[in-house]
Amino acid sequence: MVKISLQIKANLENIDELYTIHPNYNFLLKIKCLSCGEVSDKWHDVTESQTYPTKMGKSEVHYLAKCKLCSRENSLDIIPGSNGKFTSNSGGKFVTLVTFDCRGIEPIEFSPAEGWIARVEESGKVFDDVDLSEKEWADYDDKANQSVGIYEFESQFIKVK
Ligand code: ZN
Repeated sequence: MVKISLQIKANLENIDELYTIHPNYNFLLKIKCLSCGEVSDKWHDVTESQTYPTKMGKSEVHYLAKCKLCSRENSLDIIPGSNGKFTSNSGGKFVTLVTFDCRGIEPIEFSPAEGWIARVEESGKVFDDVDLSEKEWADYDDKANQSVGIYEFESQFIKVK
């Protein structure tokens, strides 16, 4: 088993916290089979609140699929409680958003899509339906009378111990 963290960073405009609608956020991932190297071109959904039964080993996993090329059955889990937040105190550095427990596969690409929550620093107003499909988002907070936004969203995967 290999633990892999998804890390994110972004430029925040008047936003102090960016996080997902845990545990219903749908992580869109591209996944590579480590036994044959196959990368599927479609995006896979991984949601912490949704599990699938397996025949062996762990009884429930968050992602389970047979590789099209080598027929190996691979699976992945979201480690409970691994959810993090990107904040304005992150100093522009990558922060871990979630950690996956991977068996036979690893995620190699992430699409942020919908389901993000952004909190405005000054007013505390929460935007709870932020769409980062375009890797940026902008709105206006009429409580604080200021524009708010998320720009230059980036993500990376790192192996952790
Ligand atoms: Zn394979």
